[in-house]
Amino acid sequence: MTTPSSSRLLAAFSHFFPGASTVGSYIGGQLVTGEAADRVDLVDPATGELFLSYPDAGPALVGRAADAAVAGQRAWAALSHAARGRVMQDIARAVRAQVEPLALLESLCAGKPIRDCRGEVAKVAEMLEYYAGWTDKFHGEVIPVPSGHLNYTRREACGVVLIITPWNAPVFTCGWNVAPAIAMGNAVLLKPSELTPLSSLAFAALAEQAGLPKGVLNVLGGFGHTTGQAAIAHKAVKKVVFIGSPTTGGRIATACAARGVPCLLELGGKSANIVFEDADLVRASIGAQSAIFAAAGQSCVAGSRLLVQRSIYDRFVAMVADGARQLRTGDPQAADTEVGPIQNAKQYDHVLGMIKTGIGEGAEVVEGSTGEPADAGYFVRPTVLKNVTNDMQVARTEIFGPVVVAIPFDTEDEAIAIANDSDFGLAGAVWTADVARAHRIAAQVKAGTFWINTYKVINVASPFGGYDASGYGRSSGVEALHEYTQVKSVWVETAANPAAAFGYAPGIGN
Ligand code: NAD
Repeated sequence: MTTPSSSRLLAAFSHFFPGASTVGSYIGGQLVTGEAADRVDLVDPATGELFLSYPDAGPALVGRAADAAVAGQRAWAALSHAARGRVMQDIARAVRAQVEPLALLESLCAGKPIRDCRGEVAKVAEMLEYYAGWTDKFHGEVIPVPSGHLNYTRREACGVVLIITPWNAPVFTCGWNVAPAIAMGNAVLLKPSELTPLSSLAFAALAEQAGLPKGVLNVLGGFGHTTGQAAIAHKAVKKVVFIGSPTTGGRIATACAARGVPCLLELGGKSANIVFEDADLVRASIGAQSAIFAAAGQSCVAGSRLLVQRSIYDRFVAMVADGARQLRTGDPQAADTEVGPIQNAKQYDHVLGMIKTGIGEGAEVVEGSTGEPADAGYFVRPTVLKNVTNDMQVARTEIFGPVVVAIPFDTEDEAIAIANDSDFGLAGAVWTADVARAHRIAAQVKAGTFWINTYKVINVASPFGGYDASGYGRSSGVEALHEYTQVKSVWVETAANPAAAFGYAPGIGN
């Protein structure tokens, strides 16, 4: 059945795949329909109406995609490093030229505000440009070994890499991982969330039009427990990169371990945003709102635990609540919308349920939702909970929605102890006028990313990843190039008399 929502979505998708009537997988340069019996429902997050449903890719398509990737990788690795860099620059230009249609597709499917989507698509171009510059600059070295042999290392592609991405930032996480992977000569099987595959499919088609050889980037449209697991099990896959929830991350790591395949895990967070009484409170309040309410809190680095010094606790929480009240929530495609809906029904129920849990634990709703559903769509008003202690469920569980819990503290030591009393370790921040204290805290909070008097600034040039339950391995920066290569050590005999060098005469036993 065609509805206004589904027509809009298919029109946006047809910009990249003219005449497309459904969603599928992109394999060896072609959009192909899934072959499994199960179907994925794509739902409009802003209305709750069905966009369309499409068949899961299934194991047979995984096999075809893996074959295409093996052939694609051979062709791609045969190009010079500099030539690969030029192709990546061409892809970046193509992305910059298509910011608007890509952003619209992302906004419709993921329910994200259009202005955020424009920014994220532009970041994808930036990622391609950054890693294009690395293609011929990340290489092995000569090592001065004591034996006098010539010993050098080669940085070689892993081969076919499987990248599994979540629904909260589909095009961003696609570019973030595909760019370093292809820069190092790998081919990719990309398994986006079954709920948000469209921008990844569009990106793959765009990349090929810009010169990426067929088969280098293949996109699998389908479920994780079927298509994703079949891809992990495929012998062509030599590395798995996963961005998603801690629970699924555990399943990925187990499946990879069964095959002896390395994996990188980028998981969730419950990041502490610490505000001291000497901070610039206006800036800190704006920062605290942006930390949790941007992307409706569906951000792995969201500043979801707001730790506020007791002397300013009531005043500062009221400032954040005032700001939250003024945020424009609504139609993701409206130019001025700041907060969109939750992406899907399951997550929506989780967010509303966590608000109710918090109230049941004794938290007070200063602003926002009390956990009741909206009239239409998966909207949750930006919500501020106070009188929260760090042992409550709302302080320990990743809510992944626009809900901040405000926890008071008295001393610097107590702030650090609360920040570190979490299973997670993805990010954190401190707001203070005391430079020395800022650096002391940056050194002591366990987190892969830490901000001082700012929040959420990330860049492709800087490493990103988690401590503890937030995962392991690093994306972006030079660190990602280590993840997407393996190192080979090559030894060359240079002695005039090799037999003497071996210490015995070959062929006479020993
Ligand atoms: P999810 O774990 O449910 O799904 C992520 C991906 O894994 C999807 O593509 C899904 O299809 C796939 N998947 C699910 N089960 C699978 C299985 N058994 N085998 C193989 N693949 C499987 O996560 P989500 O709900 O889509 O995303 C939200 C989570 O992602 C949050 O926890 C968030 O913090 C995290 N996240 C982390 C980062 C980071 O960089 N650390 C970035 C964005 C999102």
